[in-house]
Formats: sequence, structure tokens, C-alpha cells
Amino acid sequence: MKNKLPKLANYKDCTGCMLCADICNHKAIRFYIDTNGFWKPVINEHNCVGCKLCETKCTEVRTNRIEIVCRQPLRGHAISEAVRLRSTSGGLFYSIAEHAILSKNAVVYGAVCEGTNVFHKSVETIEELKELQGSKYAQSNASGIYTDVRSRLRQGRYVVFSGTPCQVNALRVYLKNDYDNLLCIDLICHGVPSNILMYRHLAINKGDGIIQFRTKERGWGRDSYLTISRKGQVVTIDDPSKNLFYHAFQSEQCFRLNCYKCQFNDIHRTGDITLGDFWAIRFTVEYDRLGESTILPNSIKGLKFLQSCNNIEYRDATWDDTLRCNPRLYTNRQEYLKTALSSKINRLYRLLPSRLADYIFEAWHSKHRHLFYLWSKHLERIQKNLDANDDALSDILKKIENNAM
Ligand SMILES: Cc1cc2nc3c(=O)[nH]c(=O)nc-3n(C[C@H](O)[C@H](O)[C@H](O)COP(=O)(O)OP(=O)(O)OC[C@H]3O[C@@H](n4cnc5c(N)ncnc54)[C@H](O)[C@@H]3O)c2cc1C
Ligand code: SF4
Ligand code: SF4
Ligand code: SF4
Repeated sequence: MKNKLPKLANYKDCTGCMLCADICNHKAIRFYIDTNGFWKPVINEHNCVGCKLCETKCTEVRTNRIEIVCRQPLRGHAISEAVRLRSTSGGLFYSIAEHAILSKNAVVYGAVCEGTNVFHKSVETIEELKELQGSKYAQSNASGIYTDVRSRLRQGRYVVFSGTPCQVNALRVYLKNDYDNLLCIDLICHGVPSNILMYRHLAINKGDGIIQFRTKERGWGRDSYLTISRKGQVVTIDDPSKNLFYHAFQSEQCFRLNCYKCQFNDIHRTGDITLGDFWAIRFTVEYDRLGESTILPNSIKGLKFLQSCNNIEYRDATWDDTLRCNPRLYTNRQEYLKTALSSKINRLYRLLPSRLADYIFEAWHSKHRHLFYLWSKHLERIQKNLDANDDALSDILKKIENNAM
């Protein structure tokens, strides 16, 4: 029996894209959240017929080289202030999706959060679209979604698919060919943190679900606050000492292992349009508390769609501004594996009192706690050194200047 089982990516190499589940015609692959809080595939030996199709596609999805690259970066935002306020960056995703629904009767795919479940789903109306708005800082369960997208495309429906670059890549591998009626949006992606930290965050704050992972109550980028549900009430956690999840996300020690060497932290993108934050204006007079997006139209299709949207304001940005504040566009953080605790999350929570384990993960905030001051300073020093390496940035800027991408 063992010989016929396929070999999927190992723990360190699996992106969690969930393509293998959709590829299997025998429903032999299921995903569950492992003890460290990350999605993991499990093969049902009874259902598996040993065709190894999943193995082939898993290798393909991890080596697929996407070549689309933007020629002129842009910055912009939704014209509607209400849309910007509800979005994480400048509201570009909502505006593009809204335009696609109104002008092309599109089906839009994106991530939603219900309680603590983050998953991909499709919507077809403007009312439903609001659910997809906002970043959910957890890996979304995309199982079943690639099959669903293909069937909508084959029905001739216009489809907007939005997700992390590894999910967009998985969709492209699944579909094999591009479709005129498909518009893919990928996000600049920092990495996805362990679900354990989300559960702990809710336990500390007596909440039962996350409503918003990043609020703009104090302005875009000044917003390390989460909104949660507590017994049917909406509560914004604005006490920094209770914001474990956000601090843990920032301290970069609890991401899925593969995220530290992500092949998509690159100027070559998977989406027709890439969206992220335009952080270059964060500490300047141009700062806008409603948020500003980085927009990379990577394909002609993406650029044309953007130009047809009458609900967005945008203009050219320089590569220097675009890249300098968004290192995930040109370099991964392999070096951070030196301090990452992703594979020890379960052990730390088992061996230490929970609150002590929390302090280790929320390192940036722990500098206010005597015992953990040294730990946070140590981590800060290591990460500062790693970030100070500007070689990757000058390399990529040179390549762009010489048109050598
Ligand atoms: C895990 C994660 C890490 C990120 N890291 C960075 C970063 O380092 N730098 C940066 O500039 N931007 C990053 N972003 C993107 C940024 O937070 C905004 O999502 C992006 O700028 C789009 O903002 P918006 O205002 O246009 O739309 P919003 O309405 O804020 O974005 C909503 C869109 O994001 C998609 N989405 C939300 N959560 C997920 C998820 N968990 N998985 C897949 N798709 C999801 C939704 O499907 C929807 O399409 C990250 C997003 C996520 C989810
Ligand atoms: S197809 Fe994706 S989720 Fe499945 S094992 Fe490979 S990398 Fe992991
Ligand atoms: S080998 Fe074939 S049947 Fe078995 S899990 Fe993979 S795709 Fe499914
Ligand atoms: S960092 Fe890379 S592997 Fe991790 S979720 Fe983002 S795109 Fe996927």
C-alpha cells in the first residue's frame, strides 16, 4: 500500500495552496490544521488509487515560473471614502471587483473569515462583496475553489480571483491555460501566521471570532488593533498588551515555514494585477489616514481592466518608492528562519505557561515586560541586521533600469 501513495511536498516546502486536494478525482486528500496551527494535507489510503497526479502537480506548482512583470508601478485608491475605510489598504480590490460585477456580471473569489475560519468563497452581488473586503491574516482554506473557478469559466462567466500569490499560481497550474474571462489579483504577501496565535488572541480577549484583522480607527498603518466578536458584540481591542496576534504577526516568528523562502517574493508576479500597501508615504506630508495602495498592472489584461474602472484614482509611482517599503516584492526572508519558532509553537505552549509563551511570540510588545526585555532586544538586533542588507534592493533597481527583468 505504501508504495502506491504519492509523495507530496514535505512540511518545509508545502505552501498550503491546496491544489492537490482539487487535483485528486478520488477525494483522497483532505486538509487539517496541525498542532503548530498550519494547514497540512493528509492522504486517505483507502481512497487513493496511486495515480500520482497530485504528486506531479505538487512538483509543478512549486517550480512553476511565472514571467509576467509590471512595466510601470502605480499608486492609488478607491474614490469612495467608505470603501477605503473598510479596506485594508486603498480599497483597490473592492473597486475592481465592484466594477467587474456591475459591468461584466462577474463572479468574484476571495477570502472571508467566519469566527476563526478563514476560507475562499465566491460572491456575485455588491452586498456579498463586503465580506471579501479586508486582509485576513491567516491562511485561507482554498480547497475546492480551483475546481469551482474552472467550472464558472467554462460556463462563460467573467471571473475575478483574488488571493495570495501561491494561490493564484495554483489556480494557473490547475487551469493550464489563461482565459480571456479570468482576471487574477495577487497580494504582496508577508506570509501567513499560525492559527494557534489567533486562537490564543481570542482566548485572552474572551472573543469567539475575528471580524477585522486590521482596523483604521487610528488611521492606515497606525492601526495595530483587531476587531473581534464577543457573545454577539463587536469589540475593538485597543489595549496593546492584549493584541497578541498582531504583535506576533509583526515579529515574524510564527509564519508557515515555506513563507520564509517564498518563491513569489519576487517582481515577477502571478496576478494580472498585484495589490499592496503604498507605504512610501507613511511618514511624509502625503500620508492619508484612509490608505493608499500599490498597484502593479502586470499583464495587458490587468492594465486594460484597471483603465476601465471609473471608481479608482491612480497615478504613476517610482520603482524606488514602490520597492523600498515593500521588500516582499523582491526578496524573501530565508534568513529569518534563524529566529523562527514556527515548528515549535505547539511545544512552547505545552511546556510553558500560556502567558509566557505569548510573550515570546509577541516580542515587539514584550520589551515592556522586564523578563522579556532582553529577548525582544535580541530579536530586534538580529532582524535589524538582516533588514539592513540593501543589496537585493539595489540589484533589482539596477535590473529594472537596464530593462533586464
Ligand atoms: C496574509 C497577508 C499578508 C500581506 N502582506 C502584505 C505585505 O507584506 N505588504 C503589503 O503591501 N501588503 C500585504 N498584504 C496585502 C494588504 O494587506 C491588502 O490586502 C492589499 O493591499 C489589498 O488591499 P485593498 O485595500 O485593495 O483590499 P482589501 O479589501 O483590504 O483586500 C481584500 C482582498 O484580499 C484578499 N485576502 C484577504 N485575506 C486573504 C487571505 N488570508 N488569503 C488570500 N487572500 C486574502 C481577499 O480575498 C480580498 O480579495 C497582505 C495580505 C495578506 C492577506
Ligand atoms: S499541492 Fe500545494 S498544498 Fe498540496 S502538498 Fe503541494 S504545495 Fe502543499
Ligand atoms: S495519487 Fe491519485 S488518487 Fe492518490 S491522492 Fe494523488 S491524485 Fe488522489
Ligand atoms: S508568503 Fe508565499 S507561500 Fe506564504 S502565503 Fe504568501 S505567497 Fe504563499
